[in-house]
Amino acid sequence: MSTNLQTPIDYLKGVGPNRADLLRKELGIHTYQDLINLFPNRYIDRTQYYKINQLQQTNAEVQIVGEITALKVVAQKRGKRLVATFKDESGFMELVWFRGQKWIKDSLKFNTPYVIFGRVNLYNGLFNMPHPELELLEEHKKNLRSAMQAIYPSTEKLSNKGITNRVISKIMQNLFLETKGKFAETLSEDLLNSEKLIPKSEALFNVHFPKNSELLSKAQFRLKFEELFYIQLQLILKNIIHKSKIKGFVFEKVSDYFNTFYKHHLPFELTNAQKRVLKEIRHDFGSNAQMNRLLQGDVGSGKTIVAFMSMLIGIDNDFQCCLMAPTEILSVQHYNGLLELSNLLNIRIELLTGSTKASKRKEIHENLENGAIQILIGTHALLEDKVKFKNLGLAIIDEQHRFGVAQRSKLWKKNTSPPHILVMTATPIPRTLAMSVYGDLDISIIDELPAGRKPIKTVHRFDNNRLKVFRFIKDEISKGRQIYIVYPLIQESEKMDYKDLMDGYESISRDFPQPEYQISIVHGKMKSEDKDYEMQRFIKGETQIMVATTVIEVGVNVPNASVMIIESAERFGLSQLHQLRGRVGRGAEQSYCILMTSHKLSNDSKTRLQTMVSSNDGFEIAEVDLKLRGPGDIMGTQQSGVLNLKIANIVKDKDILQHARYCAQQLLKKDPSLSYPENRTILNTYKQLSKYKNMWNYIS
Ligand code: ADP
Ligand code: MG
Repeated sequence: MSTNLQTPIDYLKGVGPNRADLLRKELGIHTYQDLINLFPNRYIDRTQYYKINQLQQTNAEVQIVGEITALKVVAQKRGKRLVATFKDESGFMELVWFRGQKWIKDSLKFNTPYVIFGRVNLYNGLFNMPHPELELLEEHKKNLRSAMQAIYPSTEKLSNKGITNRVISKIMQNLFLETKGKFAETLSEDLLNSEKLIPKSEALFNVHFPKNSELLSKAQFRLKFEELFYIQLQLILKNIIHKSKIKGFVFEKVSDYFNTFYKHHLPFELTNAQKRVLKEIRHDFGSNAQMNRLLQGDVGSGKTIVAFMSMLIGIDNDFQCCLMAPTEILSVQHYNGLLELSNLLNIRIELLTGSTKASKRKEIHENLENGAIQILIGTHALLEDKVKFKNLGLAIIDEQHRFGVAQRSKLWKKNTSPPHILVMTATPIPRTLAMSVYGDLDISIIDELPAGRKPIKTVHRFDNNRLKVFRFIKDEISKGRQIYIVYPLIQESEKMDYKDLMDGYESISRDFPQPEYQISIVHGKMKSEDKDYEMQRFIKGETQIMVATTVIEVGVNVPNASVMIIESAERFGLSQLHQLRGRVGRGAEQSYCILMTSHKLSNDSKTRLQTMVSSNDGFEIAEVDLKLRGPGDIMGTQQSGVLNLKIANIVKDKDILQHARYCAQQLLKKDPSLSYPENRTILNTYKQLSKYKNMWNYIS
């Protein structure tokens, strides 16, 4: 009988209760299965030895044969360190311990050949290796070493408690001995053949104990493919089940509201991309299934009008619609913009936010329930339980980024059956990331900006060029343009940021004196009425300069503003910079974005600034961002479950990801319920995975 991989790790030879506890707490390893899925971070060559005089100051681990000739204890500021002199025929170096000194002191042997392994530092002209892995040469020779030794993820606690890489490697060996290295196959014969994948057992063996580099890469490929394949399978299946189980309201007709608007009031010709997306949405509306669609489009690509026209179809079919935005300012702006259009069509539209007065709120609640309100715009306030619709047919979430999945699901429950849902993103998301995080949603992309937009010119300027920048601003203002000046606001140092903002405001007020210049200021500490007042003054053109923190980040639309100055630009993330830049370039004039920084820049900051200067394409910028920050940081923690990959990496393995998704799609096209006998392995694996990971919970 084969070993049950659900056996608790405590039972494995070489583990025991203490180590089991540490493995659980530090690496989340509970069972044999978890251990087998602890994949190495990298591999090192342990057949290669260095001489001390060949050492270099790199970050790589090295292996050296030599002897310990002396040992001393050195007092330091806090506590003491143990220092051994280590010699080979080419020179000498030091081994250093800060912890566990007594045990080491007692066990070290002088003038006996050791193999040491670790990273080295250069200090006062002498190399030293802190906390080396140490093994007598004689012992070392006994253990067969492969040219590629796996290095596992670890934590400080594990290494302090003596669970070194060698220990992990040893218990991994025990696991292979106990299971005889036989593991059930988890992919179908068909897939193994068509994708030329090596069998599971062979892959697992070679990923932990590679026989050679070719087998290692085959093993990695197989395991990455499998991991991504099952995630995609789950997401796509979820979409299929969703469509078959969850009946949507059918919006069967497109009539007066939509047609009148389209024929008489559309302020511009739609772009082809906008038309295509509207068609996709209309198709969903008519399909019997509930729509769950993600609308991606770069800043300024015109998502709002698509949202509005979708709502018109809802209203044509006697349903209510709502649009939720992440901030008060944005909601107000959407409301004002759409109010104008709604008035043309005699549509009743209302705004509900945290600062809506109690009496107004009550009136809105009533008119929602009796169906008088046709469109409701607002912030999170829409999600409150008191907000009840008569028949909500379509819920749109703008700038999804800021909303968690939980909120999406709350909207779902606003009705006896769920409304159609359209999620619009603030910033383009790289395809692979979208696939992994929103893989169960249908995706529409607006990949075309309205005609006649002039690309924004972006430059990077150092702080000491500020006077020139101010002169440039004056020129622009004299041509009738408006200017944004944005300061970073990062929570941890809120006080300092606030001071920066206020200092900046003062210096700008000095250089741009009243009455010739009028300046608005908006920041997070202001009351929302005051924010709104200042914002409105800028929108109406009563002020020429808007000094603000990132509250204006998303969505704000003032077409006459043509210059965006971003202070301390090195402190902003790429997507934020791109968002901010998107506030200009909305009118017919040439627009500019000026990134101000000091001279002190990290490599990442330099890359971000260069990317901004060289590209206006949100999708391209999103790719760079993904590479710099990794998926978890971009999506926030809510979705990290899906991104918590064990072996694959959605940045580096995006080709595998796309192909795995394709394979999952093809498979489900042929056998949507996975009921064919040849797909039994896949069905079983899939069930197992859903049982343990319960991916179903992460969304809705
Ligand atoms: P975003 O996709 O960033 O939300 P908006 O919907 O705010 O962009 O649109 C940006 C600006 O472009 C708005 O002023 C809008 O009126 C305008 N716009 C949208 N679609 C078109 C179009 N097809 N032609 C011209 N202007 C358009
Ligand atoms: Mg928008």
